[in-house]
Amino acid sequence: MRELMKVTREKMTAAVLYGRRDVRIEQIPIPRVEHGEVLVRIKAALTCGTDLKVYRQGFHARMIVPPAVFGHELAGVVEEVGEGVDSFVPGTRVVSANSAPCNACFFCEQHLTNLCEDLQFINGAYAEFIKIPERIVRQNLLILPDDLSFSEAALVEPLACVLRGAEETGIEEGNTVVVIGLGPIGLMFVQILKGMGVTVIAAGKQSNQLALAAKMGADYVVDSTHSNVVEQVRNITNGRRGADVVIEAVGRTETWQQAMGMVRRGGTINLFGGCPSGTHIPLDTTLVHYSEITIKASFHHTPRHIREALETLHQGRIRAQSLITGEEHLASLRNVMERLLNRNGDLKIAIIP
Ligand SMILES: [Zn+2]
Ligand SMILES: [Zn+2]
Repeated sequence: MRELMKVTREKMTAAVLYGRRDVRIEQIPIPRVEHGEVLVRIKAALTCGTDLKVYRQGFHARMIVPPAVFGHELAGVVEEVGEGVDSFVPGTRVVSANSAPCNACFFCEQHLTNLCEDLQFINGAYAEFIKIPERIVRQNLLILPDDLSFSEAALVEPLACVLRGAEETGIEEGNTVVVIGLGPIGLMFVQILKGMGVTVIAAGKQSNQLALAAKMGADYVVDSTHSNVVEQVRNITNGRRGADVVIEAVGRTETWQQAMGMVRRGGTINLFGGCPSGTHIPLDTTLVHYSEITIKASFHHTPRHIREALETLHQGRIRAQSLITGEEHLASLRNVMERLLNRNGDLKIAIIP
């Protein structure tokens, strides 16, 4: 029975990135699994802002040199396991994180596994199959509960980043927290923060995203295209003193600066969105010093947060389906990417091989 499920084909369909906005659907060899590795038949891959950036610029400085497969949010079914793998059998429904730490470097020893010097990444979710390396199999390949769909499960990775970001920011019940940016990440923050018992002010550009933020529990929504968005946020807070915490989930220098203006004395800013490399912002030294502003940032996730994310999705604490605004076949990936570049209101699209 199991033998029948074994891959007998040599090739699979995959999206290969050749350069700027140049992605082609091709037949490429199915990866062969070796000791400790697992081959996953992908059932759903989700588009992500990072992939869109990679598509637009044609590469990723740290990990994608074209021609290359890409995509990193995925869930599927185990197709084949390498020798020495005993926690998974063919047919198991799984979700994989896109990386795993080495557990041996200085940062891993400090429990900062998200900053591991040797994070091992996988790319290639926009394909029929993906090979999960041993290190990720051991740490970040998780079995799905039966009642969680593949596309919802594929949210584990971005949600893990959000959970870690929220945990790290030192938010307390009763706080007022601003979320700047209402893409999938910002909208996940809104929901997680509401679960923490805080007042949420959601600032975003697109009207559909503002409406979604309100539906997902934001207490106030503010149109960030208004030149006085900082004033608007301050006006909402008690005594115009500013918010206890501001989370920037856009990754633009303008919004990083807006965050500085929105926080109260003694408050915390989490610069969650990564800006283009080489960019800088001026810092109001008086404000930062005399108002004792804490500026922090959060990057990536850890194996613990991957597990918490799966649990959060399983408990339905995130409206996963509202974040996935469409489903398309792998062959249409190029059209999907172009659509997302045009900011037509889509959030995440599930790509089905
Ligand atoms: Zn992602
Ligand atoms: Zn490490």
